[in-house]
Amino acid sequence: MVYLNLAVLWFLALGMAAVAAYVIRRATIASSPFDVVLVLFLLGMMGSMAGGFLLYESSPGVVSLEVALFSGMWVMVIGLGYLLATLVADRKWEEGRRLSLPFRASVIVGALTLELVMSFALAIAAGDLPVPARSAPIYTLLASGLASKWFLLPMALEMGLSVWLARRDIPTFLLVVLSLQPLIMLLSPTAFPALTYWVVGSVLAGGSAMTIVFVFVMESFYRRPSLSRPIFEYLVVLCFIFAAMMAGLSLWTYNGMVGLFALGLVAEMALFFNAILLPDRLSAGEAVPYREQAWPMFSLIFGVFLAEFFMGALFDFALDGPTGFLASLPLPLVSVGPSFLPATGTLFYDVIAFATGVLGSVWFLIMMGAEMGALIVFKIRETRHRETRVRLSLILGAYSIYAILLPSFVIPPTVLPSVPLVGWSMGFGTGGGFIPPLFLVLAFTYLIAGTLSLLFGARQMCSTLCTAAMMYQGTFYDSLKGFNRRSHVGNKLLGSRLSRLYGVIFSLSWVSIMAAGAISYLNYVGVLHLTVYGTDVAYATEVIYFNLIWYLLFISIPFVGVYACVSTGYCYWGTFNQILGRLGFFRLKARDPSTCVTCPTHDCTRACPVGLTDLPPNFIAKGEFRALKCIGVGDCVESCPYDNITFWDVRHWVREKLGGSSPKSRPVPLRMTSPSPKTSVTRAQTVETTRWDGPAPR
Ligand code: SF4
Ligand code: SF4
Repeated sequence: MVYLNLAVLWFLALGMAAVAAYVIRRATIASSPFDVVLVLFLLGMMGSMAGGFLLYESSPGVVSLEVALFSGMWVMVIGLGYLLATLVADRKWEEGRRLSLPFRASVIVGALTLELVMSFALAIAAGDLPVPARSAPIYTLLASGLASKWFLLPMALEMGLSVWLARRDIPTFLLVVLSLQPLIMLLSPTAFPALTYWVVGSVLAGGSAMTIVFVFVMESFYRRPSLSRPIFEYLVVLCFIFAAMMAGLSLWTYNGMVGLFALGLVAEMALFFNAILLPDRLSAGEAVPYREQAWPMFSLIFGVFLAEFFMGALFDFALDGPTGFLASLPLPLVSVGPSFLPATGTLFYDVIAFATGVLGSVWFLIMMGAEMGALIVFKIRETRHRETRVRLSLILGAYSIYAILLPSFVIPPTVLPSVPLVGWSMGFGTGGGFIPPLFLVLAFTYLIAGTLSLLFGARQMCSTLCTAAMMYQGTFYDSLKGFNRRSHVGNKLLGSRLSRLYGVIFSLSWVSIMAAGAISYLNYVGVLHLTVYGTDVAYATEVIYFNLIWYLLFISIPFVGVYACVSTGYCYWGTFNQILGRLGFFRLKARDPSTCVTCPTHDCTRACPVGLTDLPPNFIAKGEFRALKCIGVGDCVESCPYDNITFWDVRHWVREKLGGSSPKSRPVPLRMTSPSPKTSVTRAQTVETTRWDGPAPR
């Protein structure tokens, strides 16, 4: 009997959602005042029925039943009167008239209210919710109703059916995003809070669906640099709404507060139904090249990043338990620290500690790996050169094994600091302090990394082993390298010449990490007692550098360019490898320097993600290019229309010593067989027309 009751209640919930989806579709195609009144009448009818149901369930009895029926009847009578009046008037709108904002707002508010009232009534009828006390705060009541399964599941169905009914009118690009939104709604962990497997499973599945949305959006942006304004705005707002929902769910797993999540849900539904109600508006207007505009692109990157950050926090809370995760933070929360800091200082410290904790957590890295890894796979598919394809594949392997599997799942945390390279993935500070028991491990770390850089260049680190390679080299983020030239800061850092700005940043990073190491050592020998709330200063510095500043630079791509960690010289681990790379075997070689003299495109000068714009003069003068900042990404090799650039490292040196062929003897023109005679230029002209800021080739 209980099951039969439940089946009837679910039938009612889902049936009402299906009818509401149909009514929304009617609203979308409304072409006359009659259609408008019909939609409002149907919504009003269903709303009064749901309200009557709620009234009766809240206070079962003859009186409540009579009130419910009476009020429902009046709604029907008044509505029918209006309906007949508009039917008789028989007016039509002129072609192309849009639905007015008040009408759209009424439909959205009506549909949401209907579902909410219905969900309360059904939850009370099913015994899932006690009759709300009169004294209960209205916002608590609303939030708990919105987060319940009686609201979420029917609403997911209503959204899904609405998309399906409007599928022919929605641009394909947005259709994919809109189709995934009902799924994300369905996978809300608050629907069945008592079922642990549902909470964990839905967090993972919902996070995956959201990740698919981000991958799709980024890849689509890569493939179509211009987009209509309504679609762009929809995507940006959606990212921020996702961020609010993820933050709300993190809060819910932490202390049971559901308000922020509910607010995010309402915002998402309003955005969603507004798009569904006016599908033709979405592709209206001129396509705008947003990928070239700093602030719009920043808002998109920031929105995606914020959502990813809170998704990472949610994963950490759901999978490790909120208290378990907070206890594992690399910097202790100030609540256990000294009390002399003012309240704003403690709050600031707490925020930094939490942010760095999430950004350095394994679940955040796994989620980012899935997302950025997909973009790398797309990049591999369109990469021509085998060597670059192999390196891109190595990024995926290195990220999975070196950044995630070994340090988080294979090597116990207590053993990790005694493993060179793996336990010290970002060099100084990663594994712990600068203390005598770790000197040997640290020395081996630098010895291994330094030797690899000498032999193969800094690309072994900056474009393979380091997690930055995964973040920057996928299709979408790599395509933003135009900001290296366009942005104010990026422009100052172009070319292989080390600018004053670079020198300052480079010096500051090395001085700071050396000072942190000295403090760490002096603490150990008992001369000083200076820690960051009990955490070693060198370790804390490394955390701030790589779990905070690095990500700030990453989201600031439109203002500093891509790979800012390399172009600014701020990463002391990277510059160590880059210096040895510069001294070692690695370089780029021109198969035929004279081709660069007559090259009409100089594509290589625009291809470098680090902003090395002075390749041609070096090729022309020396036949090769070597630079401290060259990390061997290989985009220049890919971009050259004459396939004129090759990598050269210890392997080629050995081969040449053994009498093998050098890259120079293998010209493989790909897209052009020779420079067009019409566009042939002299070397002087080449130098004049190519933008490079480096020193004159020596
Ligand atoms: S500069 Fe540092 S953070 Fe950037 S890629 Fe190299 S090692 Fe990684
Ligand atoms: S695109 Fe190729 S041929 Fe042209 S300047 Fe660059 S390396 Fe030389």
